[in-house]
Amino acid sequence: MPLHILDHPLAAHIITHLRDKTTKPATFRTLTYQLSLLLAIEATGDIETETKAIETPLEPVSGRVLAHQPLVVVPILRAGLGMTQPFLDIFPDVSVGYVGLERDHATAIARSYYCKLPPLAGRHVFIVDPMLATGGSASNALSVVKQHGAVNPTLVCIVSAPEGVAEVEKHHPGTTIHTAALDRTLNAKKYILPGLGDFGDRLYGT
Ligand code: URA
Repeated sequence: MPLHILDHPLAAHIITHLRDKTTKPATFRTLTYQLSLLLAIEATGDIETETKAIETPLEPVSGRVLAHQPLVVVPILRAGLGMTQPFLDIFPDVSVGYVGLERDHATAIARSYYCKLPPLAGRHVFIVDPMLATGGSASNALSVVKQHGAVNPTLVCIVSAPEGVAEVEKHHPGTTIHTAALDRTLNAKKYILPGLGDFGDRLYGT
């Protein structure tokens, strides 16, 4: 399965500080932005380009520019919001869809409470969800975007558990996943170990 683990010294540095329980929300948000920027660049490495004839101050040259195939980034609310801005900052043509999935803390099962998506057919769709734990929310979101016309949506995460990766592969075989870390396992409450705790809580100080 196409599982891509970000391999970069800066990514390792950032993830260590995200894991550190003494990292405060303001710093956590900045680090999330920086790591998501690296992930966004990595995850979009195969988007189409086209030739464009331009002139430098010295001579004509044929360059390459992004083809007109808009990207759609779909954060899973609420923690995915922290990963969205880098996509908006670096791509000229990007729209945002929202999928609201809430994890029941007792059962760890995802429940959908909101869905607002732009047209997805013919677009590159990137679902952003920082913690791929059981894989329930990610699988659910993948189903939702496919029902709305997405073909081969990509999943972009910060920390993934083997159980979550397996669950996504079971329900959506062949899905490309980009993650900054592949951790050991889940605990009894379905938190990732070693993980970094509840991403949304740490992002928003709740
Ligand atoms: N969601 C989180 O925020 N953290 C985990 O460890 C698992 C799911």
